[in-house]
Amino acid sequence: MDHDILLETIVAITEQRDQHSLELSLFASLREILQPRCGCFLDITATGVSRNAVRSRNEDIVLPDNVMEIAREMSDYDFRQVETPEMVYMLAVMDNNKAGNRRFLLVGLTEWTEVAERILVGMVRVYQNFMKLMSDSEKDTLTGLHNRRKLESFLASRLSARLHDRREGDKSITNPPDPSKGEYLAVLDLDKFKRINDNFGHLIGDEVLLTFANILRASLRDNDRSFRYGGEEFIVVLSEVTPEQAIGVLDRLRLNVEKYVFPQVGQVTVSIGFTIIDRQDLPTRIIEEADKALYFAKENGRNQVRDYGALRAEGAVEDAQHDGSIELF
Ligand code: GH3
Ligand code: MG
Ligand code: MG
Repeated sequence: MDHDILLETIVAITEQRDQHSLELSLFASLREILQPRCGCFLDITATGVSRNAVRSRNEDIVLPDNVMEIAREMSDYDFRQVETPEMVYMLAVMDNNKAGNRRFLLVGLTEWTEVAERILVGMVRVYQNFMKLMSDSEKDTLTGLHNRRKLESFLASRLSARLHDRREGDKSITNPPDPSKGEYLAVLDLDKFKRINDNFGHLIGDEVLLTFANILRASLRDNDRSFRYGGEEFIVVLSEVTPEQAIGVLDRLRLNVEKYVFPQVGQVTVSIGFTIIDRQDLPTRIIEEADKALYFAKENGRNQVRDYGALRAEGAVEDAQHDGSIELF
């Protein structure tokens, strides 16, 4: 075994900054070191198996018949050998996704030596530890919500995907999006939060932030995203909703906060401003629009949800000026 290759591959893996490149890098490394007959990532859900895009080039993998059954029995981060007459597969659980949607790595050799097995296990562990490190760096330590850094990369990838769709043009013909639905971004800011800190101290203030984050999580659907943007400011991205649904979700969230009795503190309220995410817009402009609507809510009594688009149509707020020149992102 060439130690240089092993070191090089670990360097390559830890240079990656997102899950997809990390997977590609792990795969390339395993191919170089183990020279497997075949390999792929499998996404296994309760209802079926789908083969991930990352896979070996030429070989057509014949999945073992019982791969689903075996996968279901495996616990998080488990490894298992699966034999077929032609091949011996190693199946590894790559993540600990509790939603029942798990990703597996399948690597086939005619024969697994002890060394080959140890290399596979070691490389997968490097990958998993690094994935965890990456995901921790995108989380807010107090609330466990995604942090501002994650918001930045999330919005950037969303907008570039939209631009790509637009350039492709014909995608909307084969798969027309529902024109009444869109993606919305809301900025949420707790009302008079300074007073909570002043009256009860920072620890209680932090407790309120944590509880608020839990109400936020409980009030949203799985494919909505929430972020802690700054101190007592949060951002929510709602996808595939009509304008009415967006207001409905945000107002329900506002009410859930209003009616919750926070230990010691009592009632806490939140003001919310939101805007539609337009495909041409820069992240800075989108946030500025939602912020203008939030400012309007603050100026007009707090504890309310305001829509930038509606306020703009009424002439109640000015057009957002942002051209992206200020270094926010
Ligand atoms: P408004 O209704 O206008 O938003 O009033 P406010 O008092 O909430 O507004 P302001 O932005 O002036 O104050 C926010 C306060 O939030 C200031 C700061 O002391 C507090 N804060 C920011 N981050 C944290 C945090 O992580 N923990 C705690 N406990 N307090 C924080
Ligand atoms: Mg604030
Ligand atoms: Mg505030």
